[in-house]
Amino acid sequence: MASDSLQAAIQSTPLWLQVALLILVADFVLYWEHRVFHEVRRLWLFHAVHHSVETMDWLAGSRAHVVQIFIERGLVMLALYLLGASKEALDIYVTFAALQAIIIHSNLNVPWGPLKYLLVTPQFHHWHHSSEKPAIDTNYSAHTVLFDRLFGTYHFPKAHWPAEYGTTQKLPGSYLGQLFYPFRRR
Ligand SMILES: [Zn+2]
Ligand SMILES: [Zn+2]
Repeated sequence: MASDSLQAAIQSTPLWLQVALLILVADFVLYWEHRVFHEVRRLWLFHAVHHSVETMDWLAGSRAHVVQIFIERGLVMLALYLLGASKEALDIYVTFAALQAIIIHSNLNVPWGPLKYLLVTPQFHHWHHSSEKPAIDTNYSAHTVLFDRLFGTYHFPKAHWPAEYGTTQKLPGSYLGQLFYPFRRR
């Protein structure tokens, strides 16, 4: 699937443009992967593990089912590999993505200024984790708010933060309980 001419064209662009392209392409893949994991019942059972946290902190982003992590990282890296951006651009993207994932889950109520209209911030992603009705199945983007705006899933009351977090149906509390939760007979 890799195209030599596409990869050569991308590698000839400045580093900042390659990084911007990687962020946008990854965000598009992650938006749809995330949305499908919410809207397809069998896949939601895997993603519910990520949503089982009821108090948000910087480690909350690390809670996810191994099956979903494998699919998510695999899809993003496949798309980025096909683009063929330089190693430096990939290194910057991966660092940015890892730091942003920690920041958006943390309890960090700092003013982001105009950046909150462009990037996914803690308050925006906290709304994604809210179990309050209007916030359910919104704010799927990982990096920028663009695709939620574009595909009608943007929910961001900036005046306040969610009062309730977690899933409407409780998950088991133990590690093994959550690991086997998607495979349980219903
Ligand atoms: Zn989610
Ligand atoms: Zn999250």
